[in-house]
Amino acid sequence: MDYEYLANLLFPEVTDTPEDLEKRFPPREGLPEGAVVTRMAPSPTGFVHLGNLVQGLTSERLAHQSGGVLFLRVEDTDSKREVKGAVEVLIETLKHYGIHFDEGAVMGGDSGAYGPYRQSRRAPIYHVYAKKLVREGLAYPCFCTEEELKEIHEEQEKENANFGYFGKWAKWRDRPVEDIEQMIAAGHKWVLRFRSTGSIENKIKFTDLIKGEIEITENDIDHVLLKSDGIPTYHFAHAVDDHLMRTTHVVRGDEWLSTLPFHLQLFRALGFRPPKYCHIGPLMKMDGNSKRKLSKRKDPELALTYYRAEGFPIEAVYEYILTVLNSNFEDWRRANPDAPTDDFRFSYKKMNPAGSLFDGAKLRDVSKNVIGKMSAERVYELAAGWAAEFDPEFHAALTRDRDRTVAVFAIGRGGKKPRKDFAVFSELKDYMGFFYDEFFAIKETFDPKFAPADVAAIVSEYAEMYDPADDQTAWFDKIKNLGAAHGFAADMKEYRADPDAYKGSVADVSNFIRLALTGKNSSPDMYAVMNILGKQTCVARLLAFAESLK
Ligand code: GLU
Repeated sequence: MDYEYLANLLFPEVTDTPEDLEKRFPPREGLPEGAVVTRMAPSPTGFVHLGNLVQGLTSERLAHQSGGVLFLRVEDTDSKREVKGAVEVLIETLKHYGIHFDEGAVMGGDSGAYGPYRQSRRAPIYHVYAKKLVREGLAYPCFCTEEELKEIHEEQEKENANFGYFGKWAKWRDRPVEDIEQMIAAGHKWVLRFRSTGSIENKIKFTDLIKGEIEITENDIDHVLLKSDGIPTYHFAHAVDDHLMRTTHVVRGDEWLSTLPFHLQLFRALGFRPPKYCHIGPLMKMDGNSKRKLSKRKDPELALTYYRAEGFPIEAVYEYILTVLNSNFEDWRRANPDAPTDDFRFSYKKMNPAGSLFDGAKLRDVSKNVIGKMSAERVYELAAGWAAEFDPEFHAALTRDRDRTVAVFAIGRGGKKPRKDFAVFSELKDYMGFFYDEFFAIKETFDPKFAPADVAAIVSEYAEMYDPADDQTAWFDKIKNLGAAHGFAADMKEYRADPDAYKGSVADVSNFIRLALTGKNSSPDMYAVMNILGKQTCVARLLAFAESLK
């Protein structure tokens, strides 16, 4: 077979050579020894999920920790799966989650010298390598129709043979060039297939940086490289791209492990050195007593939109993912409570080859800690940002008086043991909505063992005596004395020694006041709360509460 002739027949328009492309996309220079050049290469399906973030964060750490490069490549070769606006959603979401790319696809274009970074714009590049493979007898056109492929499948079923286009089933693998010419002249469509020399009798050995030594069966299938519209499959496109973009490490989900033998064949056939691979195990969760993979259908927490809408700070999600990915992260965090996460030495060696367990309760806990350590200003910025997007009414309240809202966030903050009041910004309104008249309402009630008349008397008398000029001690003494006058123990120890001697204690008295002012039985420190609410509001709420009990 004259492969040169066939190559020109199939790709008459291709004049560039692989050498031209090598020159256009030269090896990266000036990177330190051991620098990792890697990529995020998601498909724009409109659904950005936790797996993307796990992969992105792993790639980002490996690249930037080593002084290397992280780029974003959009794998949009599958037009059937394409969703309008999905590329924008992808770019925006990754940006929101703080993954910093050094180059790659950006809104409306590209940034960097190794583009285009959208596969849909790289067809001419793939064709150069497709032509090379044909010229070397490593790829061939196949004219099988859907019907014919179905027939092959049925035959294989009958014969109990393995499925796929290979060996004797590969009808077009060794057809004379005249047949091919005839089909082309008659206007028949073709796909380009890889001419596999592998056999399922053989195993390949291979070292994955996360999974270790692996043995997998060789690939014997003549997989499709170019579809009939000239668009490559993922397999072909990624091999060309990772070579030309000078990728040193491929970090991806382990669902790709089964096609790795084919990918390695492709790299070899193309004359490329394969990258190093890190195949990440799946994220799982406990379902009853067993573990299962997170599923798009069953688990809303798989979608990144979930965390945004709930109002998890990015820092918390980031911190939690590090906890999940690197088994030593938590110890490091305990030893370095205030260090930025980038100081942590991330390692693929500490990743669980079998995958990691996702635990929503743990994430909330991490988030409470992360928020607890933030400055009041930072909490304000994030809370306002969240509310602007998800609760405009609340946003209006929060931002009406910035300093006042910051003062609210400052309550109990900054000490050795910061309060852990909320895990997500969507809980904020419940936690602090009472600071704003439009969200204040009496939502809870006091223990029915207390007589409403007593409670009403206490809060209305307290309204008379509250003085914002009191320091915390004077303020509390007033509450104690007021309670004592109504038969409530001022001293907790005395109360506990003989509870039947009293109607209740000073803690109950405080709680009546709390209920009147916040509408709830728990709140941040009341002295601070009252200072921020101001005398007028406090008195009005106390009297209204007393009135409501009559
Ligand atoms: N487009 C592939 C995906 O979304 C990328 C796999 C890879 O990173 O190589 O899963």
